[in-house]
Order: sequence, then structure tokens, then C-alpha cells
Amino acid sequence: MKPASFAYHAPASIEEAVALLGTFAAEDGRILAGGQSLVPTMAFRLSKPAHLIDINGIAALEKLTVENGSVSIGACVRHAAFHRPAVAGPLGALLTNVVRHIAHYPIRLRGTFCGSLAHADPASEWCLVAATLGAEMTAVSTRGTHTIAAADFFAGIMTTELAEDELLAAARLPLLPSDVRFGFCEFSRRAGDYAIAMALATLRIANGVIVEPRVGVGGAEAFARRIPEAEAALTGRPPEAAVLRAAAAAAADAIEPLEDIQADAAYRRDLVRAMTRRALEQACA
Ligand SMILES: Cc1cc2nc3c(=O)[nH]c(=O)nc-3n(C[C@H](O)[C@H](O)[C@H](O)COP(=O)(O)OP(=O)(O)OC[C@H]3O[C@@H](n4cnc5c(N)ncnc54)[C@H](O)[C@@H]3O)c2cc1C
Repeated sequence: MKPASFAYHAPASIEEAVALLGTFAAEDGRILAGGQSLVPTMAFRLSKPAHLIDINGIAALEKLTVENGSVSIGACVRHAAFHRPAVAGPLGALLTNVVRHIAHYPIRLRGTFCGSLAHADPASEWCLVAATLGAEMTAVSTRGTHTIAAADFFAGIMTTELAEDELLAAARLPLLPSDVRFGFCEFSRRAGDYAIAMALATLRIANGVIVEPRVGVGGAEAFARRIPEAEAALTGRPPEAAVLRAAAAAAADAIEPLEDIQADAAYRRDLVRAMTRRALEQACA
């Protein structure tokens, strides 16, 4: 099928883009970023935006900048920007590890980090990274600019707290100190498929015990999130197999699993247990 007809707009600045969004959002005006999620749904006529606001010509949105202890990822930064470490230290290595699980190479050349967050697929790897590390989103509209913490950003399956007239101009991730360790594990049926379940863990080991653990789970619930029950099971305890297993079990118990054609609730819960344990084993190795 071909998409339904739409008006195409190519703003040259953020101001122009949000002005267009302000004018057309109520008529189903949509941002076009990498197009790797939006265009297929248009081709199937699952979405029929009347106006497409293409942000790909806005140079200011291509920036990836490190300042004040965090990296700011502009709305047009592609997944492929992370094929090699984009920032120094554990964060650069973490992003490089995760990106190869997103779709396939040609999709990663076009799809954007912020587009993934705005699209909010439950199985998006970048949503899991944002939720686990505590990203901050910069939302811009004609009404002004405000910041949304990751913990408040994701609201449901493909639903965020972005208002319909807001552009996600950038996402900010905190840099990780050099002694932070991480682990990431994902299960999908074929390489490049969306995850059925995945887990990301970061932690430090000091004086023989686990310090400041963060455990996030994605693909298993309506949106990716940190699992405090798993973090509590790790904090102050030695990085031993029994402790990691207990934390993984806590994560599996804490979730409300999605059920779909790929996996029922019991299977997804079991996958979360396995993905979390493996991510923690990587982090503690
Ligand atoms: C075959 C295939 C496999 C895939 N596998 C995976 C996978 O394993 N993991 C994964 O995470 N993704 C996967 N994807 C999706 C891909 O990563 C997309 O790139 C991503 O979901 C959306 O980014 P985009 O820049 O392409 O956004 P677009 O498709 O341009 O937009 C998606 C939606 O977000 C909105 N939007 C985009 N950017 C902004 C913004 N800055 N501000 C406000 N709204 C915005 C759009 O209006 C639209 O509603 C896959 C896609 C395909 C086609």
C-alpha cells in the first residue's frame, strides 16, 4: 500500500519546526525524524498524518555534546552514532554494546535516538537505557522549553508525556564514573528483531559489596523502567551468584508482563529472570 496523502514541511530551524507543530498538531501533524517507525505505519495506513514536519534539515538537532557531566543527544542523532564509543568511559562502551541489538544496519543509519524515545515502543533499547540511567528529555513547543525526567516520561505502550505540540529536541544521559560496571542482555527470536525481554544493569563494587545498583527491564511491560526490588536485593551485598539470582528473581516477581503472540506472561517473567541474572553477571564479572 501507499501512504495516504499528506502535506510535507521542511523547517530549517527548531523555532520553525515547533511553530509548524503548534499550527498542525491538532490536525495530526507529526514530526518526521528517521522515519523508521512512522513511515512503515503510514505505508500500511495504520497512521495517516495530515502534515509531516521533517526535522532532518535542522543542523542544530544533529549535535551530540558532552557538558556538565552529561551527554546531550540531539533529535537528529542517529542510532549509528553509537556504533563506536561516542563518549569516553563506561557510558560510551554501554551505548556501543546496546546499539547493535537495534534492528539492522540500514535502519540504524536513519533511525534516531530521540525518535525511539518519542515513539516509546516497550521493546526499544534506547527507552531502556534512558529509564535505567535516568535520562532527561528536553521538550520544546511555542509555549516554551521544559525538562521531563525519564521516570515521568514513559506513560504506557507507545505513549509518553510529550504534548502533541512538543518536539523532543534532545535527551541528556549522565556520564558514568570510570568504576561503573554494566551488563546488558536481550532475548529476541532473530537477530535484529524487537526484544521479547531485556535487562540493563549498572553498579559499582566497593569494599567487596555492590554499591548504587541500577536495574532496568524492557520489552516485558508497557514501558521500560527501573526495578527497585531488584536494586534493593543487591545493595550492600557481595557480588556472589546467590545474590545475583535473588535480584533476578525479585525483578521477575516485580513485573506485570505483557502477553502477546510472542510470549505469554509466564514465559516473559522467566525471560526477565534470565536476562536480569545474565546482565548482572556481566556487570560483576
Ligand atoms: C524492521 C525494523 C526493525 C526494528 N527493530 C528495532 C529494535 O530492535 N529496537 C528498536 O528500538 N527499534 C527498532 N526499530 C525502530 C527504529 O529503531 C526506529 O528508528 C525508531 O523506533 C524511531 O526512530 P525514528 O527516528 O525512525 O522515528 P520516526 O519513525 O521518524 O518517528 C516515530 C514517531 O516518533 C515521533 N517523533 C520522532 N522524533 C520525534 C521528536 N524528536 N520529537 C517528537 N516526536 C518525534 C514521530 O512523529 C513518530 O510518531 C525497527 C524498525 C524497523 C523498520
